[in-house]
Amino acid sequence: MPVEIAKPYLDPHAEELLAAIPAPRKALFLDRDGVINVDHGYVHKPEDTEWVPGIFKLCAEAQRAGYLLVVVTNQAGIARGYYSVEEFMAYTRWVHEQFALKGTPFVATYYCPHHPEFAPGCECRKPSPGMISAALADFEIEAMNCAIIGDKKTDLQAGLAAGLMKNRLIYSANKSLFYISRELDL
Ligand SMILES: [Mg+2]
Ligand SMILES: [Zn+2]
Repeated sequence: MPVEIAKPYLDPHAEELLAAIPAPRKALFLDRDGVINVDHGYVHKPEDTEWVPGIFKLCAEAQRAGYLLVVVTNQAGIARGYYSVEEFMAYTRWVHEQFALKGTPFVATYYCPHHPEFAPGCECRKPSPGMISAALADFEIEAMNCAIIGDKKTDLQAGLAAGLMKNRLIYSANKSLFYISRELDL
């Protein structure tokens, strides 16, 4: 039996954000660990959060260019019992608040709480495209005009499998994010 995709964290302002951009929409998909926050390993607390340099600027540019911002993140720490879904959701709410304060709100965070050791057959864990495909449908987003930014090949594989055309890999945080925004013509 395939595992169902977990219900995403929907930003409290999602409706307004969607109302501002008519469908078919375009979105910039962002991996979380290594793209939004520095990947210190299973980060799930504000005090352990270090933002990747340049991420707020990149999000601002993407937003100005008419992209919705959607986070898609593998969270095997849940399957491993390092933190609960409730703890993950509380942390996600905090992350959303920080980006809203900067004027670049996320619409939603999709997460995969599984790990192949514990839940074979999951369709959400990247490189599977499940989370992206769900977001495309949920928000009437047209895949062709979308990009995913990730720090692992599996992020790009997920994007490609979902039909996203402008995917980018981060090599080193600061410079890469700057060049990515140029490449994407944001
Ligand atoms: Mg990552
Ligand atoms: Zn999953």
